[in-house]
Amino acid sequence: MSYPKYVRFFKEGIFLNENQIKKAQNIWQAVLGKVEMKIPKASFETWLKDTSGIFYDEEHSIIDIKVNSSFTAQYLQERMTGLIEREINEVIGKPIKINYLQGTELVQDTNNIDTPIHTVNPAKKHIPFNPNYTFDSFVVGDNNQLAFAGAKAVTDYPGKAFNPVVFYSGVGLGKTHLLHAIGHTLQSQGKNVTYITSEEFTNQYISAIKNQTTEIFRENFRNLDALLIDDLQFLIGKEQTQEGFFHTFNELHMQNKQIVVALDRPLNKLNVLEPRITSRLSGGLTADIQRPSFETRVAILQTKAATLQVQFPQNIYEMMAKKTSSNIRQLEGLLNRVAAWSQFSKDKATSNELADFLSHDLEAISEPIKTLNSEEIIQIVSEYFSITPDQIKGKKRNKNLLIPRQIVMYLLREETSMSFSAIGKILGNRDHSTVLHGCVKITELLIKDNNIKKQILDIKDTLLEINS
Ligand code: ADP
Ligand code: MG
Repeated sequence: MSYPKYVRFFKEGIFLNENQIKKAQNIWQAVLGKVEMKIPKASFETWLKDTSGIFYDEEHSIIDIKVNSSFTAQYLQERMTGLIEREINEVIGKPIKINYLQGTELVQDTNNIDTPIHTVNPAKKHIPFNPNYTFDSFVVGDNNQLAFAGAKAVTDYPGKAFNPVVFYSGVGLGKTHLLHAIGHTLQSQGKNVTYITSEEFTNQYISAIKNQTTEIFRENFRNLDALLIDDLQFLIGKEQTQEGFFHTFNELHMQNKQIVVALDRPLNKLNVLEPRITSRLSGGLTADIQRPSFETRVAILQTKAATLQVQFPQNIYEMMAKKTSSNIRQLEGLLNRVAAWSQFSKDKATSNELADFLSHDLEAISEPIKTLNSEEIIQIVSEYFSITPDQIKGKKRNKNLLIPRQIVMYLLREETSMSFSAIGKILGNRDHSTVLHGCVKITELLIKDNNIKKQILDIKDTLLEINS
């Protein structure tokens, strides 16, 4: 393999151009965001999730991508090149060559170099926690308060406050981020801490069995002050590894060493896992992370933008935040694309151009939208206000029915192509002007009544979720 350029730079004592690293990261994040929408989740998780852009050689149009194994490199090369090249082309507007590099190769190459390359150093002992995943960069909202508090407690009183701590949530809601934040903090306290996915744990365990080195395997874990184990659901169906995990868990737990676990579903849905494991896990603090509210999403986007060293007008963040609520990684993908685009557009993009790009980009990426029908909207709104669809359509004009009914009118008008009279018809044969009045009323309230605004955004979130 020929040395990547930055390795040569290091060897020759030339300073690496940080900008080229940053650009590589941005471009690749943008590409991942797009690809994620286009391939099955499982393949994304397997092949692309842990890759990162490490160097962009603008002059020769080459981007270096770090992957975890030569197998992944080969797979991406053979099976995904077409798709990835297309997306890169879209992101930066010209074709470039992709060079997949394996982490360990890089480390060997850079062995004699004094300055460590942070992003490509998977050395076993000093765990390279993601520098972007810190407590400071984690935005706390109603959705993740408990998890955040649990994570803080772990770093304040490792092994003492809650043990184990279990985070669960759907994908892209911050579990891995919190694990890394805990990792940074404990490491800076001089603690011996390891972060590992349960997949990697499985690999290590199996190869220890094969090589008859289970003693060393256990020793490695036994000496830890804290074990952070991610994506525990991968242990499902791996009985032998579950056994290994159970013993590791017990040994650490008995010595009051901190264990933190993340998984993608609540413990009681883990019945496929051995009951003795689930019962151990439920002995500490279990904290779920819900989908973030609109305000939290905007705050997250602003924080991420600051990390990327970009800044956009407020309305751009809001536009982005309105588009998705279920997965922050998707939001980040969006932000990265906007950032990459504005970075590569010749002159500084104006707010209008950004908004325009954003609306186009979304059209391109959004999954086929299942159009909501009117009954679904009525159903969601009634559930939200704890009333029945019949009450919404009925004649009564009580205040507690009036607002929900007008919200239905407003949403039907916004989210479907129904005319005012068609809406009136399905809402108990009301006439066109009543519906018009309802829509105007809600539009006004949206501006001056924060409570209503929040209610409508919540309902829209639910609609969005059903729709995708
Ligand atoms: P999970 O492990 O739950 O799938 P991640 O921790 O990988 O999710 O989060 C996905 C992305 O969203 C990460 O880039 C992370 O930094 C970001 N993220 C999630 N929650 C927050 C938050 N509350 N504040 C800032 N960033 C967040
Ligand atoms: Mg994760």
